[in-house]
Amino acid sequence: MGLNAKIHNIAELKIKKQIPKVIEERVLIALSHYPELKDTHIRFIFTQQLKASVMAARPVILTLLGSRKRRIYDILISPVFKLKHSIEPIHQVADEVLIGWIGHELGHIMDYEQRNTMSIAKFGLLYWLSKTYVRKAERVADTFAVNRGMSSYILATKDFILGHSELSQRYKDKIARLYLSPDDIVELVAKLEDKTQDREEILDDEAKIADHIATEK
Ligand SMILES: [Zn+2]
Repeated sequence: MGLNAKIHNIAELKIKKQIPKVIEERVLIALSHYPELKDTHIRFIFTQQLKASVMAARPVILTLLGSRKRRIYDILISPVFKLKHSIEPIHQVADEVLIGWIGHELGHIMDYEQRNTMSIAKFGLLYWLSKTYVRKAERVADTFAVNRGMSSYILATKDFILGHSELSQRYKDKIARLYLSPDDIVELVAKLEDKTQDREEILDDEAKIADHIATEK
């Protein structure tokens, strides 16, 4: 696959991460976009327990009671995709699609990381009670991933889901309703580029001012 070539600090990315071998490279690529999560304990776990979703990110409840540094998060992954007429093993999904999917889940963990225990409890309750809140939380996760430079992966994941003829319409409708749409993502990327431009202009101005001061001396 040659994906390893894209990642530099592999050993660092693996700190406090538990990753199944079969998806390891792709998980590491997603993690490489989140340097903030370097010391965060995350377990990627294959499980049959997910019903309505393919992946889910959640804190390990007991670890929320201790100090913040001891928190553990699980990213639960369904080992197969249930299609209308068949099943597809998740590790056989195209690289970009799986990387985007994991990038989205890591976005949820970024969201959790900014919350204290009370706020996570509230989050859990509202997520359970309110469709509007679910939509907000899913869009926050997507936005984190896009802001971390993962827009092409996130788009690949959306295209895969929304264009998949063998996925149920109900699931596709849910994704279309709750997550950022491809148009939203393009818009977000354009905004990011604007910001980069602003920053470059500021740096440019600073350089000019510095030059000016230097020549005055
Ligand atoms: Zn999500």
